Parts: sequence; structure tokens; C-alpha cells
Amino acid sequence: MVVHLNPDFKVDNFWADNPNQFTFFLSHNHEDHLTGLTNGNNYGGGGNAAVGGNSGGAAFQPRTDWAYGRIYTGKVNAKILLNRFPHLCRYVSTLDLHTEYNIKGRLVTLIEANHCPGATMFIFKSHMGTVLHTGDFRYVPRMLEAIDKYTDG
Ligand SMILES: [Zn+2]
Repeated sequence: MVVHLNPDFKVDNFWADNPNQFTFFLSHNHEDHLTGLTNGNNYGGGGNAAVGGNSGGAAFQPRTDWAYGRIYTGKVNAKILLNRFPHLCRYVSTLDLHTEYNIKGRLVTLIEANHCPGATMFIFKSHMGTVLHTGDFRYVPRMLEAIDKYTDG
């Protein structure tokens, strides 16, 4: 997904035509959120012909040629990601939960998604507004407290 108020930010989608075209964010490591990092289109279909589509049945294989920019994610996600994709170590930056980071002039905060180990949601704040990217999540009331805290209610 391209974050529309931040069109140079992509969450859980790692396709790009050129290096440094986007800043990437990973919410969690389920296969359908890793599209572009593997040799197929994880949302189904033929994928990107340039890197070979998934012909069905076989597990997606990591793209060892991926070199498109910085990937921000939580610490647990980073460990899981780098266990499978060690060649990405120079691209991955970890972010703490409940901490506002200034990334390319926008404030980014990770909060728990209660979905799988390490899963996070992202709050992106800029002069254009605030976006909550949920990814996959399972609601618990404490999420509202965190969302209120980092979105000014
Ligand atoms: Zn998931």
C-alpha cells in the first residue's frame, strides 16, 4: 500500500522501479505482506514478470537482488525478516514501539497490532494529516489509548 498522504512511503509492499524511490515499512512477516521481497506476487496472480511470477504450489523464494531502499519495522519483525532474508541486513532499520520518529519530515509511531509476534500498526503524521495504517490487527481496547495518544485524539 502507498500511504496516500505520504506517496513516497510504502507499507507491506516492496515493489519499486528504482532504488530510493520509496521508503518502506513492514507491519509483520506474513507472506501477503512481503510482496516484492519474494519471487512472486504474494497477493495472487502472476507477479512481476521481471523477477518471475509464482507458478503455483512452490513456496515463494526471497529475491536476493532486492536493493530498493530503507525498510523500517519493529525489532521482532526485523529479527524474523532477517532470519529469512539475511541479505537485507543493510536495508533494515528497527523502530521501538510507542516512540515517535521523524522519518523524512513525517512522524512515524509503531503500536502493537495484536495479530502475530511482532505485528505493528503505523501512525503517520505530517502537515497533510494523520494516517493510521492498521495492517492486520485484532482489536483490543488498549489500542484506542495508544491511537488517541499519538494522534492527538
Ligand atoms: Zn497477517
